[in-house]
Amino acid sequence: MKKIGILGGTFNPIHFGHLILAEEVREALKLDKVIFVPTNLPPHKHNNILEGKYRYDMIKLAIADNKYFDVSDVETKRGGVSFTIDTLRLLRSRYKKTQLFFISGSDVLKYLPKWKDVDKILKIAKFVVANRPGYSLKKIPRKITTLEIRPLAISAYEIRKLIKKKRSIRYFVPKEVFKYIEKNKLYSKN
Ligand code: ATP
Repeated sequence: MKKIGILGGTFNPIHFGHLILAEEVREALKLDKVIFVPTNLPPHKHNNILEGKYRYDMIKLAIADNKYFDVSDVETKRGGVSFTIDTLRLLRSRYKKTQLFFISGSDVLKYLPKWKDVDKILKIAKFVVANRPGYSLKKIPRKITTLEIRPLAISAYEIRKLIKKKRSIRYFVPKEVFKYIEKNKLYSKN
């Protein structure tokens, strides 16, 4: 049976923390593919999210050279607040006879009890949580699988903050993403 990983997030912007997460989980679980799914409006984070088109474009650039990676615009096209359950139902119907894995970093665990239809989510996809610096991988709910990956202390929030302070983010994101941010002058205004 085919195995597909789904990595949801704001990707505001995509950075090496996301890419290492996707690559290490793909390798460890022998996934055939990882699909990056940028949210439109996330239910739990509302601070200054860049238009979906930019975030989608940056993912495209970041994953262009990895044949196992793909990006989906289901949430950015659907508009409104993005709920993982809606996306998983759609992907479930699109990929028949496929085992679905929902990938996330350990910071997501603190929000999980608040997610819409979390029980249904766990029935559609196997939830895989990887360590992220600053967020413990202990006391994980029983139905969730954990995976130890190379820790990379990078967050999109820090990247946005550095840009505002006119500091370098050069080696936090792939070169093409760096160039795209510069060209479009992203995150430099308040
Ligand atoms: P922000 O700082 O704006 O909140 P973020 O860097 O946390 O953003 P998201 O787009 O919210 O990025 O993350 C998408 C997914 O990637 C989440 O599951 C998150 O846990 C995971 N992730 C992001 N950065 C890392 C990292 N450095 N290590 C491991 N997992 C990560």
